[in-house]
Amino acid sequence: MFNNLSEKLDKAFHILKGHGKITEVNVADTLKEVRRALLDADVNFKIAKDFTTRVKEKAMGQDVLTTLQPGQLLIKIVKDELTELMGGDATGINLSGNPTVILMSGLQGSGKTTFSGKLANFLKDKKNKKPLLVACDIYRPAAINQLHVVGDQIGVEVYSEPENKNAVDIAQNAIKHAKANGFNVVIVDTAGRLAVDEEMMTEIANVHKAITPNETLFVVDSMTGQDAVNTAKAFNDRLNFDGVILTKLDGDTRGGAAISIKSVVNKPIKFIGTGEKMDAIDVFYPDRMADRILG
Ligand code: GDP
Repeated sequence: MFNNLSEKLDKAFHILKGHGKITEVNVADTLKEVRRALLDADVNFKIAKDFTTRVKEKAMGQDVLTTLQPGQLLIKIVKDELTELMGGDATGINLSGNPTVILMSGLQGSGKTTFSGKLANFLKDKKNKKPLLVACDIYRPAAINQLHVVGDQIGVEVYSEPENKNAVDIAQNAIKHAKANGFNVVIVDTAGRLAVDEEMMTEIANVHKAITPNETLFVVDSMTGQDAVNTAKAFNDRLNFDGVILTKLDGDTRGGAAISIKSVVNKPIKFIGTGEKMDAIDVFYPDRMADRILG
């Protein structure tokens, strides 16, 4: 994960090695390389620039130049800032409400259906919940089938109304069904489009308003880099979602989305998807991710 970024940051810190004492110029050179590494990873220019400015201020504030191990201290400052940038502390999922209602949003192909299954599986196995999956894609019968396949795979019931073309109705009926049948979590998988469009936004906003979810999650493909951040902004403007799910982190992603998304929408990344299988889900811990990036 993020091998290229890790390698580049490692190289940046090489500048500091082999110097008995480091100078302000060495620090500036290192930070220039850190910034370049972030830009190469598809981090937005302003975020990368602000990042290195903060690191420099902290480094000067902590008298990096006069400490015994200036290189180590600078790496620690970078790691702390990277953790902060990705969200600081890990944020769990809000499981209040009876049932807890979770709404999935995102573009088609982002991994919503797969993640809905993974989350249901996670809540069933790890949190002892009885989840119900809801197919709210009224445009693509294949999407409904796909959720049924996922449900069968993990042994979770799927609620669908293939003949009903009203997503709000389906979602509300599903919650009634859950209440009547002892389900304590309802995960609503919605329709996605290939790009943000008004019709989709209005539809999901209507579902959101009608079912007042305890958690609204935005699912995004991390491979899409800065586009991921722009899409997040568009969805957040409409839904004011609670958290981000970054999928496909197992692929050849450069890492920009993971690093920048929190600072753009000010919402935490809650989970990551690391594969196509139902158990390829991890809670997102910013500090562990920073550790991983800095090797
Ligand atoms: P949706 O249109 O948003 O519901 O997206 P899907 O759940 O159908 O996922 C689109 C494709 O991405 C499918 O082929 C999934 O198997 C794949 N996919 C989803 N999540 C991940 C992931 O974390 N890693 C990988 N490698 N593939 C994923």
